[in-house]
Amino acid sequence: MNIIETSKLTKSFGGLKAVQEVDFEIEKGAITAIIGPNGAGKSTFFNLISGFHRPTSGSVVFNETDITKKPAHKIARLGVARTFQTTNLFEQSTVLDNVIVGHRLRTKAGLFDAIFRTPREKREERQAKEKAEEMLEFSGLTDLAYQPAGSISQEAKKRTAIALALSTDPDIVFLDEPAAGVNPDETDGLAALMRKIAENGITVCTIEHKMQMIMSLADKIMVLNQGKKIAEGTPEEVQNNNAVIDAYLGGDAVAEAQ
Ligand code: ADP
Ligand code: MG
Repeated sequence: MNIIETSKLTKSFGGLKAVQEVDFEIEKGAITAIIGPNGAGKSTFFNLISGFHRPTSGSVVFNETDITKKPAHKIARLGVARTFQTTNLFEQSTVLDNVIVGHRLRTKAGLFDAIFRTPREKREERQAKEKAEEMLEFSGLTDLAYQPAGSISQEAKKRTAIALALSTDPDIVFLDEPAAGVNPDETDGLAALMRKIAENGITVCTIEHKMQMIMSLADKIMVLNQGKKIAEGTPEEVQNNNAVIDAYLGGDAVAEAQ
């Protein structure tokens, strides 16, 4: 069963077609990867699905509901979570507080509750903390819970962003370069975390430049180049696809992947 289906999904920025007529299906429970050179439209594709950008044309269906025109916060509430290519955390706040914010976005009591500290507000606060602690544990961050987010490693920041996304109880998470800027050992750790997420029934869709990681992790890969889908299939199929070799694997990406 497909959890996401895009149909002729297109985004133009002025004259530039960042994403062009992309038809794509994401299978529920699988790990799907999107690869392609810089500027291929990968992040824009995520932005279209998660509602951060309005498509110019085409559609996005999530769990059989058309979400094409829904705003980002509504899409998030339906069960679509994401991380950003640049990990923006509140650097002065603790790792735990950063994750609590994610949960509260979903469950927040109204302003009245917050000011008068109603029982509902107190209950939600406690639940948010428990949920955040659970997600930190799941993401391997319990030891860092009370560190300021600004003081932790790049890899731990990436894990925090993932914990933040998971705290909203999503059905699917979109991870935009979750292993960028981390060393090879840490990359293996992040791949293991992605596997664990999928094993827990949350569909994973990731953008990644690290080819070795993706080849052993993904069930299915889509290759974007200049906004267009140029290939899709299993890692093996994609690796042997001539259009991919020409457009991507033969170019700068090989150097980038090493
Ligand atoms: P990728 O994530 O594959 O590196 P992006 O989706 O970030 O690529 O970008 C695809 C193209 O769209 C690039 O040419 C980029 O400059 C352009 N682009 C992305 N976001 C915007 C924006 N908000 N306004 C104008 N152009 C954009
Ligand atoms: Mg990008």
